[in-house]
Amino acid sequence: MQIKNSQVLRTPNSPTPGRPVLFNPDICTGCNICVHFCMEDIFLPAPKKGEVPQILYPEECWYCGNCVDDCPEPGAIALNHPLMQRVRWKRKATGEHFRVR
Ligand code: SF4
Ligand code: SF4
Repeated sequence: MQIKNSQVLRTPNSPTPGRPVLFNPDICTGCNICVHFCMEDIFLPAPKKGEVPQILYPEECWYCGNCVDDCPEPGAIALNHPLMQRVRWKRKATGEHFRVR
């Protein structure tokens, strides 16, 4: 297959079910700060200004939370932990629930 210079092809791997982070397109401004701060480079910047970034390599996310912590728009991005990481711990004395981040 011949590829034109202006053409960008992406081939995401898809062994990971779901997405490691979820964007809220109503809040996200598409500033791409999360793209720059992701230490694993799993994102591609949004193809159009104002749109949410794209997730290219979901299986490489470490769930470190940098993208969420550095986002200037609260609620624009949230971690979407795999099921096996959603264990909650209960403090018997008070009944409080905690989750390891
Ligand atoms: S999720 Fe936050 S940091 Fe990422 S593009 Fe949207 S507003 Fe910017
Ligand atoms: S949690 Fe960490 S590794 Fe995963 S997308 Fe966010 S910054 Fe990247």
